[in-house]
Formats: sequence, structure tokens, C-alpha cells
Amino acid sequence: MTREYLKQATLTPKSNAAETHLIVKEILDEIEAGGDAVAMKYAAKFDQYEGNVLLTAEEIEAACDLVPEKLKADIRFAHDNVRRFAELQKSTVSDVETEIAPGFVTGQKAIPVDAAGCYVPGGRYSHIASAIMTVTTAKVAGCKHITACSPPRPGVGVAPAIVYAAHICGADKIMAMGGVQGVAAMTFGLFGLPKANILVGPGNQFVAEAKRILFGRVGIDMIAGPTDSLILADSTADAHIVATDLVSQAEHGYNSPVWLVTDDRKLAEEVMELVPGLIDDLPDVNRDNASAAWRDYAEVILCSDREAMAACSDEYAPEHLTVQAEDLDWWLARLTCYGSLFLGEETTVSYGDKATGTNHVLPTSRAASYTGGLSVHKYMKIVTWQRATREGSKAVAEATARISRLEGMEGHARAADVRLAKYFPDETFD
Ligand code: NAD
Repeated sequence: MTREYLKQATLTPKSNAAETHLIVKEILDEIEAGGDAVAMKYAAKFDQYEGNVLLTAEEIEAACDLVPEKLKADIRFAHDNVRRFAELQKSTVSDVETEIAPGFVTGQKAIPVDAAGCYVPGGRYSHIASAIMTVTTAKVAGCKHITACSPPRPGVGVAPAIVYAAHICGADKIMAMGGVQGVAAMTFGLFGLPKANILVGPGNQFVAEAKRILFGRVGIDMIAGPTDSLILADSTADAHIVATDLVSQAEHGYNSPVWLVTDDRKLAEEVMELVPGLIDDLPDVNRDNASAAWRDYAEVILCSDREAMAACSDEYAPEHLTVQAEDLDWWLARLTCYGSLFLGEETTVSYGDKATGTNHVLPTSRAASYTGGLSVHKYMKIVTWQRATREGSKAVAEATARISRLEGMEGHARAADVRLAKYFPDETFD
């Protein structure tokens, strides 16, 4: 198996982690000490916003009225798909029990966390889809209280389509606050919110660092870095579609890696020729992001065969993985490391990003080697329980006492002894 780099990244995504950590830690500490007023001070500083933080019913209604009917229908379409997919996922988690030994029953329950805090990014783009992905999934999981928070546009507030999406997907509160201050408000329970048990949703390096620092006192879905995408394509792929899909993912940000892995040199060369023109054709901001991402972070890798392609893909563990090649069933069975997999030319990452129902909050920076993306399961605690008859507890008590004494844990052993003595007074145990 061989691998040849026809185009290699000159940079790898890295953040000035130490500096970001200091900035975020200081803001969090200050907000925890100073509460609502300090959070609002940072909203004014970073987002030039001094308006209402928790949207009232009237403000939500007014924002919804601004959303065109066609867009509302599209949001409802996406919400319906995300809801039904989340319901399917929920059906795979059940409360179960088993008689592990005669008279001794053990079981498992799935309990949703009470309060979910959903961060909906809104700096560069208005991430309507992130509101749908995070809020809907929390609702289906059964969270009792869901806050959606998103950065306000200077002087204006949260984008109306984000408000509409969060509202119809089931947010109990919608908060016009972004970045570290938004994350802090949900975690510390500012503005009358319940303290979040879990924080979910993507965001920039400040949001990610705030979640990382707060993890432990609050649960998090994952720490997301820049979005990344890999396409596996063979000689049957359409070069124009492959190139368009690479560009579509490069527009996420200047440091969003896109990778093409192929066993066909001609296809690779055609794609590399097409990409610059497709990038040039994008609107300004998107073009700037995509051209920097393509120049500095993109790779085109020529492999000897499909097994080498699959091995390369698993090593990269991309957030988004697309296969445009023959024998899709082989690829589905073979590939093991990805956040979400898009099989065949008839689907594309954009569909999953916006509307097919699978979640778009996904592991980046090779985290797909150990985790999947956001699902109802992230909002649920899998807890266990046990109950026994006196007779059923006997064998367990004897084993527990002996194991505990060998470990030197006399207190544990006596918790078993005291029961054996009470329930079986006429017997002796060693
Ligand atoms: P954002 O909402 O994450 O961040 C905006 C906030 O950043 C502002 O409200 C502000 O408070 C804060 N901020 C800006 N400059 C700051 C500074 N100097 N110090 C402290 N705080 C500061 O929006 P964004 O910046 O556009 O980033 C969105 C991110 O989310 C992108 O990286 C995008 O790729 C990612 N994303 C990922 C997915 C996914 O599923 N992986 C989906 C959508 C978006």
C-alpha cells in the first residue's frame, strides 16, 4: 500500500491555546463573581449589544414574524427530520433489568439531564441549523429546561431565523448573548436561568475554551475545533462534484481542512484544476475563507488502492467523510473513524449540515477516533440500580466481605457482615 501527496498542507490547525485560555479564564472568573452586570458588560464589549438578554414572548413573536414563510417551511422540514432521527436514537436506549443471581436484580435506567444549554454560533454566519440540531435533540431526550443562546448582532439582537428555529424546536428560553459570556450565563444560572447540567453546540475558540474550562462542574458534548472534511473518490467520481464538495466545506473557515483521497491520478489532477475557479466564484467572505483553507490546509493524496484509501481516511478520522466510489457497501463496512458518513454522489455534507436529520455537531481534529457526534444519548445519563431479597443477597455478601478484607477495606467488609449476621443468625461465615 502506497500514499503520495499531490498537495500537502503547509499549516495544521492550531490555536494560540495558552493566550485563549488566559483570556477566557479571566472573563469566566469575573462573570462568576460579578453576575449579570458583568456578563452584559462583555456583551457590550464584544458584540456592541446592550439590549434585552432573555427574549420576551413578544420579542420572540416579533422575530418570528420577520422570517419569510418559505424559510419557515424549510426550518420546519429540517426540524422534523432531526426530531424523527433523534426519536429513533432514543428508541435504542431502554430501561433494562436482569436477575443477575437468584433473588438479586440489577438494572439500568436512562435519565435525561434537567437543564440543557445550547450554544448557537452566530459570529461569522447565522447558524440556523445549529439551533435545530441542539435544541431538537435536547427536547427529544426529555430535558426539562432548554436554553438556546446566540450572539446578538450589534444593536439588533439574535438573527430572527435563529429565534424562530430555537422557538419551534422547543427552547424554553432564548438568550441574546454570545461567546464566553453566553456560556457562563447558562452555566452559572444568570438572568434567572436554571444552571445548565450540560452545554452543547459548536462555537469559536473562545466558546470551546470556556466549555473546556467549565467541564466537570457542567457536562459538555465535546470540544470542537475547526470543521474538517475528507472525500474518498475513485475513477467513477465526477471531478466537478468532488471539487464543488471540497469547496463547500472549505468555506467554513480559513483553517478548515479539506482532504481528497483517491486512487485515480487523473481525477486528482482534474479536481485540483477546478477548485481555484470554484473558490473565485464564491461571494467575498466565503471566498476568503475557502481560498485560505485550500491554500494552507488542504491535501490531495494519491493511494495505491481502496484499502490504502480507507486506511488513510481512518487515520485522518475526519469530522465529515464522503465516499464517491464504487461498491458503497464495502466502504460502509470497512470505514471506522468518522463523525458522519455520506455515501455516494446523491448525498453531500451540506445535506447533513442542514436538513437530513443526522446531527451536524460532530467531532473534529481526529476526535472521531474515539467519539461520535451529538445525539440524544449525550443528554442522557445511563444509571444503574439494584435490589435483592435477603436470600438473594447472601452469596453476594459473602463474596463482598472476602474481597473487601483482601483489599484491606474492613469497613466495606463489615457492611456485608452486619447483613449476614442479621438475616442468617444461625449460620457462620468466613
Ligand atoms: P461564535 O458564536 O462561536 O462566536 C462569537 C462570539 O465570540 C461573540 O459573541 C464574542 O462574544 C466572542 N468573541 C469574539 N472575539 C472575542 C475576543 N477577542 N475575546 C473573547 N471573545 C470574543 O461565532 P463564530 O466566531 O462565527 O464561530 C463559529 C464557529 O462554529 C466556527 O468555528 C464554525 O466552524 C463552528 N461551527 C461548527 C459546526 C460543527 O458542527 N462542527 C457547526 C456550525 C459552526
